[in-house]
Amino acid sequence: MKHWSKGKSERLERDFVAANSGRSPVATASSLPVLRQQAATCKACELWKTATQTVFGEGTPGATIMLVGEQPGNQEDRVGHPFVGPAGKLLDAALAEAGIDRSSVYVTNAVKHFKWTASDRGKRRIHKKPRASEIQACRPWLEAELRVVRPQVLVALGATAAQALFGASFSVSRQRGQLIDSPLAPFAIATVHPSSILRAPDEKSRHEQRRMFVNDLQRVALLATQAHAA
Ligand code: SF4
Repeated sequence: MKHWSKGKSERLERDFVAANSGRSPVATASSLPVLRQQAATCKACELWKTATQTVFGEGTPGATIMLVGEQPGNQEDRVGHPFVGPAGKLLDAALAEAGIDRSSVYVTNAVKHFKWTASDRGKRRIHKKPRASEIQACRPWLEAELRVVRPQVLVALGATAAQALFGASFSVSRQRGQLIDSPLAPFAIATVHPSSILRAPDEKSRHEQRRMFVNDLQRVALLATQAHAA
């Protein structure tokens, strides 16, 4: 059974401090409320300029499971909480089906500000994928969350989160549901982002993708049980 070792924790801390030296605000606090407060004024990339607010992660510091998505969406940007829009509702239902209580997990995103572009008529804000430089700029906040929460099971939702956590060559289509050897948590795994299920071309494929997503989350539930039993 794998555990958070003292050495791993110290290495994460050391890498984190090295990566952040000279940056402002410096995300070295060891409490989530303080980190959230600091991130609210972050201007380390350009995304804060067009978003409503920073959407920091939510959940308990000792959560067994941490779910990491790509970035907040339109509704999350407006209300300031992660995974509260349509994808969040799908996630809630899938977690419940897999036997995972959402209140027992920590949910966050690789990028904390909503990146968007205006629709043709300018009435809607359309999600835009963050650039590698924006993901990199936001990484100190994600690493700070990992450092404080110390999840037993780290779950990347979608390609952006998976590549941010496990490297640029990571392929969710090839490696979803597989255990990944990562210094970030004792167990690490990736699956799709729930928004990709909402974009399925028809009802049949949506149903199939949702079934596979629940399967992946059931594996997560099993890993969390193993972590507790250790
Ligand atoms: S997206 Fe991340 S790095 Fe960029 S301004 Fe927002 S919090 Fe800072």
